[in-house]
This record gives sequence, structure tokens and C-alpha cells, in this order.
Amino acid sequence: MKNSNPEPIKGVLNKLTITDLDIKGKRLFVRADFNVPLDEDLNITDDRRIRSTLPTINYAIDEGAKIILSSHLGRPKGKVEPKYSLGPVAKRLQRLLKKEVTFLPDCIGPEVEKAVSEMREGDVVLLENLRFHPGEEKNDEEFSKALSKIADYHINDAFGASHRAHASIVGIAKFLTSAAGFLLRKEIEYLQGVVNSPVRPFVALLGGAKVSGKIGVLGNLQDKVDKVIVGGGMAFTFLKAMGHPVGDSLVENEMLNLAKDIIDKMKAKGIKFYLPVDCVVSQTIEPGAETKIVPVQEIPNGWKALDIGPASVRLFAEALGNAKTILWNGPMGVFEIDAFSRGTFAIARAVSDAYALTIVGGGDTDLAVTRAGISPESISFISTGGGASLQLLEGKDLPGIAALTDKP
Ligand code: AMP
Repeated sequence: MKNSNPEPIKGVLNKLTITDLDIKGKRLFVRADFNVPLDEDLNITDDRRIRSTLPTINYAIDEGAKIILSSHLGRPKGKVEPKYSLGPVAKRLQRLLKKEVTFLPDCIGPEVEKAVSEMREGDVVLLENLRFHPGEEKNDEEFSKALSKIADYHINDAFGASHRAHASIVGIAKFLTSAAGFLLRKEIEYLQGVVNSPVRPFVALLGGAKVSGKIGVLGNLQDKVDKVIVGGGMAFTFLKAMGHPVGDSLVENEMLNLAKDIIDKMKAKGIKFYLPVDCVVSQTIEPGAETKIVPVQEIPNGWKALDIGPASVRLFAEALGNAKTILWNGPMGVFEIDAFSRGTFAIARAVSDAYALTIVGGGDTDLAVTRAGISPESISFISTGGGASLQLLEGKDLPGIAALTDKP
């Protein structure tokens, strides 16, 4: 958290949180999001999702609860697939918690029940991947019941999975009192806070591949936002809608009318709207491909715009200059390839330098921040959820939040 930045106006969660429960000696079924990236040798390449849940786990340990951790990993589609085992997560957790974490070979069944019955206060176990059972993604009632059997309370700290109505997120809450963990609460406070009552000027900075993925966010924010800056692939649908030829750049033709509509609406509401003025173009999306920097009016036929150019970086940075709140979701270009990464990295620096409450939407954008060499501490809040954060920013309810027990 930045020290010198304006204090956020936080959203309010009218649901139980872990601190509302007396958890001493109680068995807590903690649904976490340990869906971490692994390399071919099954080494964890980024453990931020694990570290984000530590406050909840440490609190439960200190309070003397028995902590039963659970998560999904990858998409095993209801079958046991060793490459999606949570074994590596158990080892990393053990190191981070400096405490023994017993890894159980399943998430339901007699062996799990026996191990849980032998737990003492402060013990931590990790269950095997929930998605090895088809009942998890189907939100199956019997499976939910089987999960609930081993616990006294359900704690949801899996923000990144809370847009899914799955058994360990939603179904289980039918059988147990269900409360939010600290991570889930923090995500809601920041993301809902920015949607409901942002400190203004409020700037939305959107990028990434497609307009269709972010259109709901634009729609929901249009009465709150002062400026909208659009970069990344989605900018070229807007530029085409305004009549610019964009060569072979990414365009969603079916979104052209909607893009035009959005531009008109924003103009009518007095929202300042910024698009790239120049871009880095190439004929192929490959490392080492020939590139040129051109004004957006001069994208040659057969070339694709794959990053914003230096003039756009200056324009966007200047537009961010007086912001009190910045919401950033989506890279400015194909930042995964060095030649098209500069725009995204420069904008990441501009966001981190801004004297503003800065909120970075999950998914690729947090990776872009890391790759830009920016310390996560220089951003006020980085969401751990991609789809879930977009859904909240679109103003939609998340099934995982709705399923929590209401505050009395
Ligand atoms: P999203 O999930 O919609 O935020 O999209 C993220 C992806 O958009 C990243 O993997 C980028 O490589 C890609 N992207 C960003 N800018 C462009 C662009 N100009 N053309 C094609 N893809 C892009």
C-alpha cells in the first residue's frame, strides 16, 4: 500500500467476515485461490496468490483454529491429473508459513475425515485439487455436503474464483456458516469502493485484446469516471469506428457500432476520451520482427499495431497527471514480446508514479507491472482476480460473495 496516497473510499461488505466468528478450536474450511502458474518441472513461477492468503491463514493459526485449506489448480476437468496436483503449493505454503502443512491426497472421503479428526489447534492441512472431482465445477449438492462434513465454518478467501458458482465457493455455504477471509474483503473494499465512490478525478485506463471483454466496465463506470484512456488491441476497434484505416490491427468488426456509440455517449457526458496517437507496427507478432513507429493515421496496409508509441505514452502520462484515482486493466500492447512491451512498461511506471489511489485489475496487468520492474508496493492495490475483478467492475454480483452469510 502506498503511504503518501489519498485514502480510498472503501466499499462495504454486508456479509460475515472471519473476524465475526469465534474460531478457536473450530475446523475452518478455507477456500483459497492457489491457482498459481507452474513451469514444466512443476515449479511455481509466481506465488503472489499464495502470499495474498497468508493474512487469513496466520490469523486463523493465531486464533487457534484448525485450518483446512482447499483450492483448484488448472483445468483437470473432474479427473485426477498429477500435473495439476497441489503438492507444490503445500511445499511453498510450508516455507512461507514456517510451519508444517500436511498435504492430503484427496479433498473428501474417509482418509481426509480421519486426518482432520486428528488435527490440533493451529494445525494446517491442504486438500488435493478440488477439480479432480466433477462435483466441484457442477456445484453438486452431494459433493458440497461431503466437503462441508469436515468443517465447522466455511471461509471464502478465493476472490479469483468467486465469479464461479462452484461447490467449494457456493454449494458448501448451504451447509455451513460462511464468512469472507481478509483477501476477499480487501478485494471487495477496493474494487467496489472505486466503482461506488471514487475520489475524483477518476481515470479508467483500459487495454488488452478486446473491446468485448471490457465493454461492461466502460458501461458501468460512465457516470463515475472523468477520463477514459484506451490502449492495447481494443484501441483499434475504436480508431476504425472513427474512420481511421488500421491495416491488419486487431479489430472486432461486430463491435464497431457499439464503439461509436460509446464515443458519442462519453462526449455527451463530458468524459475526456483518449486513444493512441501513434503506434508500433509490425507485419508479424514475433520476437525480432521488423517494427516501425507511425502515427495512427499512417498504419500501412498489411501491418499490425502491436503497441502504443512514444507520443501516446506522453499523452496518456499527461492525462494521468491530475488523477486522484486510477483504475488500470489491460496492457497497452503485446507486452509479452520485448519489441512491443515499451508502451505498457512506460504506462506502468506512470501509474506507479502517480499521486493517486492506483488499482490494477488482475490477469495480465499485474504480470505487466512485475515485468516492468515495478515494485508491487508502489501500486495501491493489485487485484488477484481477472474475471472476478472485471465482473465486480461491471457492477455485477459475484456468486461467491452472494453465498456468504449475511451480517446479522
Ligand atoms: P486481455 O485479457 O483482454 O486483457 O488481453 C491481454 C492480451 O492482449 C495480452 O496478452 C496482449 O498480448 C494482448 N494485446 C495487447 N495489445 C494488443 C494489440 N495491439 N494487438 C494484439 N494483442 C494485443
